[in-house]
Amino acid sequence: MGEIIDGRAVAAEVKERVGREVAEWIESGGDQPGLATILVGDDPASHVYVRNKRKATEEAGMRSFHHELAADTPQETVADLIESLNDDDAVHGILLQLPAPPQIDDDAMTRLIDPMKDVDGLTPVNAGLLQQGKPGMVPATPLGVMELLRSIGAELRGANAVVVGRSMLVGKPVAALLLAEDCTVTHCHSRTRDLAAECRRADILIASVGVPKLINADMVREGAIVIDVGINRTEDGLVGDVDFDGVLPKAAAITPVPGGVGQMTIAMLMHNTLAAAKAQAAVRAGR
Ligand code: NAP
Repeated sequence: MGEIIDGRAVAAEVKERVGREVAEWIESGGDQPGLATILVGDDPASHVYVRNKRKATEEAGMRSFHHELAADTPQETVADLIESLNDDDAVHGILLQLPAPPQIDDDAMTRLIDPMKDVDGLTPVNAGLLQQGKPGMVPATPLGVMELLRSIGAELRGANAVVVGRSMLVGKPVAALLLAEDCTVTHCHSRTRDLAAECRRADILIASVGVPKLINADMVREGAIVIDVGINRTEDGLVGDVDFDGVLPKAAAITPVPGGVGQMTIAMLMHNTLAAAKAQAAVRAGR
């Protein structure tokens, strides 16, 4: 029977560590880190996500600046707000909650965010830096995946890692991070010819697909580590992309849904906000 990786516990540790580091940073004369959230429209799930992010920001001792805009807000208004937050020295991180309503071009608005304040790691500059193996802002969920692997002492060097899903938010950055840790990475997607065969080669299997229980026990090698990023709302409640009950007996370790990767995203966002504040202070000091 595999180990169930406790995302809640690891996330709590990360949040506690960030809170401690924020206090030390301020104590040593650093500016209080600030995270600005922009929420356009009435999507209930987005409201919950942003509320949780704001709460975690304040709990970590950082400032939360929240901007809530009506669903019919024109794109220029969002663009102006992002530009003003780029120029605001009290704001170290800018988070535009996506997806925004249809009149707003998510990619165009993301590109406006100052890369140094891009705590979601979604600007082309940060995505490019990650591919180049250079320091930059890395999206929070992939960082959370890596933190969970670290928490169980997973041996990454030379391991066969299979990533299913190639989103900008998860699949692509996770693959880049695993490659940077010397994994041999196979990247699968909807056109992969024999997904089961590819998955069976994995020492480390990461699923970020959005299809409930796509990965079943037949697709998992005995002793593999399985990280399930999927969050799917079904009639049976929240389920992941992995058939947890079926895979658990075969896996060396596996994340549950809920209680796994989902817990890590906000914790790593807090980590990114503090890192952004420190990086911006270093740039200002160099001026
Ligand atoms: P996404 O943008 O929804 O894309 C899904 C990916 O899965 C695509 O690359 C797609 O391939 C691939 N795919 C779809 N069906 C497939 C199949 N049958 N076999 C193999 N690959 C298939 O992905 P995402 O944004 O990474 O989201 C994936 C899941 O993770 C969702 O459930 C989402 O809610 C969850 N999520 C959770 C967190 C968290 O905090 N835990 C954060 C982000 C996302 P193509 O590229 O070929 O279309």
